[in-house]
Amino acid sequence: MAIINRIGEFHDDMRAWRRDLHAHPELGFEERRTAALVADRLHAFGVDEVHTGLASTGVVGVLKAGSGSGAIGLRADMDALPIHEATGRDYASTSAGKMHACGHDGHTTMLLGAARYLAETRNFDGTVYLIFQPAEEMLGGGRTMVEEGLLERFPAARVFGMHNWPGMPLGQFAMRAGPVMAAADRFIVRLTGRGGHAAMPHQCRDPLVAAAQIVIALQSIVARNVDPVQRAVVSVTQVHGGDTFNVIPETAMLTGTVRSFLPEVRDLLERRLREIATGLGTALGVGIEIEYQRGYPPTVNTEAETELAALAAAEVAGADKIDRAREPTMGAEDFAYMLEQRPGSYVFIGNGGGEDTPMLHSPHYDFSDDALPYGASYWARLVERALPAR
Ligand SMILES: [Zn+2]
Ligand SMILES: [Zn+2]
Repeated sequence: MAIINRIGEFHDDMRAWRRDLHAHPELGFEERRTAALVADRLHAFGVDEVHTGLASTGVVGVLKAGSGSGAIGLRADMDALPIHEATGRDYASTSAGKMHACGHDGHTTMLLGAARYLAETRNFDGTVYLIFQPAEEMLGGGRTMVEEGLLERFPAARVFGMHNWPGMPLGQFAMRAGPVMAAADRFIVRLTGRGGHAAMPHQCRDPLVAAAQIVIALQSIVARNVDPVQRAVVSVTQVHGGDTFNVIPETAMLTGTVRSFLPEVRDLLERRLREIATGLGTALGVGIEIEYQRGYPPTVNTEAETELAALAAAEVAGADKIDRAREPTMGAEDFAYMLEQRPGSYVFIGNGGGEDTPMLHSPHYDFSDDALPYGASYWARLVERALPAR
């Protein structure tokens, strides 16, 4: 039960790849340098096939061993975020306003490390698809890949994903069967009243008073409509309207995010949001227009694949370092689109640091290079368990 020795031997190489990626972050669907680097490495490792240009900048490596027909997909994300890095590291971002603040530099590196080991050892029977996905943050590169036929072209029977988690100790893994990440929807409410002199409000229809009441009333959806044993979030995140002190504006706008796990809760949240906003608009004489966009679906792990992931992780980290009952979070993840198509499991790997360690998307966050051999070893053991050599 440990890091695979061979992977430990090239820890320094992995650290160098990770820091190079970190210094050269690229936003979603712009990962050209990253994709070229991934493809070059896969070729150098002797991976059997390397396919590029999936969902613009995605890369898939294909590794075969033995004669088995089993196939497994391992997915890493490659994109960075529009954040100004504040870590002060000597390998900090060289692109102003772009930063690997979610650790996708580490995710890409761990899958490369596993690819190198698996290409060398081929101690499995079947096919491994190494899926390097673009644009996980907001843009849904995972969805684009699935819509382009990823899983028909590379027919993995099971798919697996992994994300680092700051504050969780190094050398630990966490997972759960069932929902782990939420569905994420977004809304815009546009209010149209009648603008005029703020000293003569009786001649106006004030969209700001209506907007304020809608913000408060939307809080009653989770508090009063959703079954209290279910999880849901409605957050209003922007309120825009007005230009000066003595004018009641004609229009105002609200935006926000809506999170849930269950389809029936998701439907309820949308329905109540529409009813409350429209109803208050009618009551206050203000026109309401609602744009409601469904985003990433919930990320739902299947039972058997989560068990397999836990066993592979335990082989690397030790059974006492595996949390099989990880609490779900209301964050969202576009690996969900692959999990809608195939059974699989999305797990978390400890990134170390204490309680006050910078969280994902913080300008002070950094992926821990010490996690690299754990993650790469987990991928490797997962393959060797899922597709055992004969
Ligand atoms: Zn992120
Ligand atoms: Zn991420």
